[in-house]
Amino acid sequence: MKDVCSTTDMLTQLISFDTTSSKSNKPMIDFIIEFLNGYNIACNIGSNHEGTKGDLIATIGPMVEGGIVLSGHTDVVPVDGQDWDTNPFKLIKKNKLLFGRGTSDMKGFIAVVLSLVPEILALNLKIPLHLAFSYDEEIGCLGAPGLIARLIKDLPMPMGAIIGEPTGMKLVNAHKGGSLFETEVTGYPGHASQTQAGVNAISVAAECIVFLNSKAKAFTIDGTRDERMEPPYNTINIGVIDGGTAGNIIAGSCRFTWGCRSIINRDVDELIKQFSDHCNNKLLPSLVEINRDVKITTKKISSVPPLMQVEENPVEAVLRQLTGQNQMMGVAFGTEAGLFSEAGIPSVVYGPGYIDQAHKPNEYISIAQLEECSEFIRKLAGWASK
Ligand SMILES: [Zn+2]
Repeated sequence: MKDVCSTTDMLTQLISFDTTSSKSNKPMIDFIIEFLNGYNIACNIGSNHEGTKGDLIATIGPMVEGGIVLSGHTDVVPVDGQDWDTNPFKLIKKNKLLFGRGTSDMKGFIAVVLSLVPEILALNLKIPLHLAFSYDEEIGCLGAPGLIARLIKDLPMPMGAIIGEPTGMKLVNAHKGGSLFETEVTGYPGHASQTQAGVNAISVAAECIVFLNSKAKAFTIDGTRDERMEPPYNTINIGVIDGGTAGNIIAGSCRFTWGCRSIINRDVDELIKQFSDHCNNKLLPSLVEINRDVKITTKKISSVPPLMQVEENPVEAVLRQLTGQNQMMGVAFGTEAGLFSEAGIPSVVYGPGYIDQAHKPNEYISIAQLEECSEFIRKLAGWASK
């Protein structure tokens, strides 16, 4: 058996791996595998198509149905262009705060869980706790579907999953979904003095965007609402736009990336339908008369389903009982909880740290939050051992 390791020591190790989504997370996964193997815990390992990213599932306790999944993602967002006071990949303790990329989102949770492995093992669980650590969450939850499919195939069906994203240790049973799209406009270029003979792709893209803006406005007025989320309505954001070649040429092409954060799936399906209708039936007919190659195409880049509140959520019931929290929150950010739920594993989001600190320079987590999470995992393990 290995020496018992404190949460801070474990977090120091985890932060030292630069697991920005564009890089490999394998060194961190290998470290966790070695750590768990040191306690004779076997790991069910997966990887992406290219073999550059890894994930793992590990079970503490008996291989029986009704367990609880403790889920976390190993990747972090980039630090490029951010003004950090310290090295983001070195855990720095200042007062009672721990600074580093991923401290809140969400290596803090993983560090709590791993550092408690020896304590949990000593309890001889009757209900299993399954650790599930994924890759590529930050770029659209790309890793979780494979991990969840393997979990369902290889393990007895769990009762539910706790996704340890930073909620300030407040129970969250609903969150928005997020879908990202790219729309590409192919215009008809020409001399800037002959606009009547061309189709300006940037101008067409602008009209598409005006339509999306009008839908975003409509969402705030009479769309689906969930007052627990901030903001309580669906939102649309235009993230990137790129088009044209020179000031004196009618722009031949323009593309823009946009996303919708929606409270329910149906709203985004409906939005896409209305957007296509608008492009195909309102914008295009007069444009293809100028040139028949003019087109507007939209493709989905990624999609994370919302976590929708359900009547009977057994994992929520267990957490209510253990934490005494009756007030349930909704949050605006997407997590892997929507994917677990969609796959038939009821989920909640509940973890240390705050989303306000995530994705920013000088990301930190308080030691108090980590301690609160440790206390909860101990209670959960105690419950699972009775
Ligand atoms: Zn996260």
